[in-house]
Amino acid sequence: MESCNSANHVKDSFLAEEFEWLQKWTHLSTEIFDNEAKKCDTQQSKLLLHLDYVQKQSRNYRQQKHELISENFFLIKEINVLGDFEKQKSDLRLYISQKDQLTVERDGLLLQIEEAKAKCANLRQQLEEQGKTMQEMNNAFQSELSECEIHRTEALDALEREDEKHLREMDRLEQNLQNKYSELNTCTICKRPWDSVGVHRLVSLRCGHVFGDACIREHLRYRNFCSVCNRNASFEELRYIYGRNVLPFET
Ligand SMILES: [Zn+2]
Ligand SMILES: [Zn+2]
Repeated sequence: MESCNSANHVKDSFLAEEFEWLQKWTHLSTEIFDNEAKKCDTQQSKLLLHLDYVQKQSRNYRQQKHELISENFFLIKEINVLGDFEKQKSDLRLYISQKDQLTVERDGLLLQIEEAKAKCANLRQQLEEQGKTMQEMNNAFQSELSECEIHRTEALDALEREDEKHLREMDRLEQNLQNKYSELNTCTICKRPWDSVGVHRLVSLRCGHVFGDACIREHLRYRNFCSVCNRNASFEELRYIYGRNVLPFET
């Protein structure tokens, strides 16, 4: 019994020591844990601050990214503008080349114009000389024309006088012709013009002489010859002439 109590006593003291040790260990662990927790809190605070800093940086970077995109867009536009500028430079060089060529052509044309002006002046001088010559010729022509006009007037007066003379001669000849015609168209027996119908119509004898019908019949009642040529004639020879104006040829 005593040994049993001794054993329990050892056991209790061991447990007490173990308990004490556990308490110490627990206390130590708690301190360690508290220290670690404090360290963790500090670390967390630092990390949160760092996170906030990183977020700020991230926002700044995004802002910078937008700015860089805008700047990139602007630079692309600038590049396009530069491309246009290069094209304009190329066009300008082409225009300058064309301008040089046109300048050469212009100089050639100016030279031609100067030559043409000289020719024109020469031609003008020749024309003036020709004009003077023509004026002199015109004066001479006008003088000759005046003389010709005088001659023409004189010739016209002479022709007019001659014309009047011819007209008078024509009137006289026409009157003679009328007389002759009247005489030739007149019955030689009664001295009156014959008719186309009726008792004094135109008739002829075999000899060819013509008379008014009634006059030659009256003549043949007492005579058997033509009253003009005295050739034999009779009533049976009488022939009517169908025409009033008969002009026998003078033989
Ligand atoms: Zn008669
Ligand atoms: Zn006769």
